[in-house]
Amino acid sequence: MILVLVGPPGAGKGTQADMLVSRKGFRTLSTGDALRKHIKNRTDIGKVVADIMGRGELVPDDVLFKILEEELGTDKEEVVLLDGYPRNVEQAKTLSAIGTKNPVMGVVHVDVPKEMLVERLSGRRTCGSCSATFHVVTNPPQKNGVCDRCGEVLVQRPDDSEDKVQKRLEVYETSTEPVLSYYKNTNAYFRVDGVGTTDEVYTRLEDVVSGLLR
Ligand code: AMP
Repeated sequence: MILVLVGPPGAGKGTQADMLVSRKGFRTLSTGDALRKHIKNRTDIGKVVADIMGRGELVPDDVLFKILEEELGTDKEEVVLLDGYPRNVEQAKTLSAIGTKNPVMGVVHVDVPKEMLVERLSGRRTCGSCSATFHVVTNPPQKNGVCDRCGEVLVQRPDDSEDKVQKRLEVYETSTEPVLSYYKNTNAYFRVDGVGTTDEVYTRLEDVVSGLLR
């Protein structure tokens, strides 16, 4: 079963997904992380997507389809959190089409006002090894520049610089917001207020998820 987390870059989807993984035993599939892994390992996919991602643009849908095929699995009992997919209506349709193997149990929109996102993203620091994220002000690591989880060095993602963030927010508005309209008229759509501490947002999200699992 698939639980989709949709929201603008910087909404905290990755952090919330991590919390659901550790507290509920779900598995997470972040398409951004999967693509970054391809870049790191210099695969054919990695070579195609590196520049596109560096510019803050969307990677072609057929590449994402390959990533889904590689990573999704077919265990209907397992709850897979999709973080970063679908990013446009075409991808949402693809997800519906593969729903017989892996049904979508819910689509949770993590809603954060746009004016908060630039600050959240430009202060974000990410572990290049385990993908854990921190924020220089709101969620600093215990030791400056070092990942609390695995001890590796924290870096700023190249696409978290302020100009790239603006581009990603534009892409979200034009390509991904229509995905919300696509799901809004279905009974799979839920909105969660993404403003507050990570624990506050998690409590709201957990409410929705518990309802879906009941
Ligand atoms: P994220 O880690 O989710 O912020 O994604 C980082 C970048 O990966 C995005 O800006 C896109 O370039 C690419 N990406 C991730 N998921 C998708 C997707 N579903 N469709 C197209 N591009 C994607």
